[in-house]
Amino acid sequence: MSDPHAGGPVPGGDWDRAVGLVASAGEVALACHISPDADALGSMLAVGLALRARGVRVVASFGERRFRVPRLLRFLPGQDLLVEPGDYPPAPELMITFDVPIADRLGTLVANAGKARELIVLDHHASNTGFGTLNLVDPGAAATAVLAEELIGRLGLPVDKDIATCLYAGLVTDTGSFRHASTTPAAHLMAARLLAAGLDPERIARELWDRSPFGYLRLLGMVLERARLEPGTGPAGLVWTFVTRADRAACGLPYDEVEGMIDVIRRTDDADVAVILKEDDDGAWQVSTRSKGAVDVARVCAALGGGGHTRAAGFTSHLTVEQTMAGLRALL
Ligand code: 5GP
Ligand code: MN
Repeated sequence: MSDPHAGGPVPGGDWDRAVGLVASAGEVALACHISPDADALGSMLAVGLALRARGVRVVASFGERRFRVPRLLRFLPGQDLLVEPGDYPPAPELMITFDVPIADRLGTLVANAGKARELIVLDHHASNTGFGTLNLVDPGAAATAVLAEELIGRLGLPVDKDIATCLYAGLVTDTGSFRHASTTPAAHLMAARLLAAGLDPERIARELWDRSPFGYLRLLGMVLERARLEPGTGPAGLVWTFVTRADRAACGLPYDEVEGMIDVIRRTDDADVAVILKEDDDGAWQVSTRSKGAVDVARVCAALGGGGHTRAAGFTSHLTVEQTMAGLRALL
């Protein structure tokens, strides 16, 4: 069903339909996007934990061939809800997706979603294509976790410390630790509710941002060393770098360790757009882009087969580093 979201908050009637669908389901199958971040996985596990506490049968997954939870997200409670995508219901009676703007981002679970009797899409990407039978999409929400909290509340389910931890991980990550423009009074009020449930903000911050093996320092040194500033590219300049599989192997690091490096690159005052190309274990380049506002990187990345938000977007490239950068420069 194609029903692109017009923007604005989710109508109350749609929430009522979602609550009805969940209440009448014998089993609920949850899915988040591949290469899950804290918002995708946290929102999914939060709803999973809340439903299970009510006695609902729940499975949760994401459609990666090499199914593995990123190291920095293993502290999230509720991982025992996860099943390998191969063990996921082939035709779920009710499936709910989290932080997935386009069906492709479900990976192998796109087939299961296609056979689901009802498919609820819970998301905050403005680019969401409305691929569900019910689309709960609010581009004004700071995180998908905001919508997950609302769903849990409307189901009348309590938010305990574990559920709060999962939701907070999504909220704090997608607001850039309450630094982005999405840091509204509503975002802080949600944080206050979650903190009141007893979560440990210091531990969550340490797990998400403040720990790595020693090899990370060496790898970061290499990546910063080869960063390039191109003041003449785009309306306000470009800074970019890359990290290969071989670099990671030399430092003994898995792919997830490079996810946060873009936050160092984008500090550069002299550039509006920051880019890092990260070679994954299959040899494809996962490209992360960030903008300070002069460029809409969601549009640029969409033109290259990816997507995301205005100021944070990405795409996958099977070309070389130079070819990928040439394609990007042309669009900037
Ligand atoms: P990150 O750079 O942190 O991996 O992703 C930033 C944003 O871009 C996120 O909202 C993410 O969903 C989106 N994004 C990253 N990579 C891809 C991609 O390959 N395809 C699409 N459609 N979106 C992506
Ligand atoms: Mn998100």
